[in-house]
Amino acid sequence: MMPPKPPDSNLRRQFLRQCEKLWPAIKGSLAEVRKPCIRPNCAACARGDKHPAFILSFTDQGRRRCMYVPAELVPQLQQALRNGKALEARLYQLGPEFLRQYRQQRDASTPD
Ligand SMILES: [Zn+2]
Repeated sequence: MMPPKPPDSNLRRQFLRQCEKLWPAIKGSLAEVRKPCIRPNCAACARGDKHPAFILSFTDQGRRRCMYVPAELVPQLQQALRNGKALEARLYQLGPEFLRQYRQQRDASTPD
């Protein structure tokens, strides 16, 4: 027996449209930290205030990693993180929708 074709068309088109709207999407977490700089006699560092910096933490092949984020990119990355959560939530919904659509198509094509 041939494996059934995956339910397609509507579900697929809908998903691709949603992906389009959810770009850019990323997973990870953004944190603000305070780092000392390398300037000698820096007043901020001498006060102990240091300098704000943003760090993106993420998992790369099971290893925790992080990268500095330029301040001007922070709003865009925050939106990308929200989009990533929305996309993940959508993927969880797709399992049951995939099954429901398959059953509907199967039942519709079964002769009485
Ligand atoms: Zn400094």
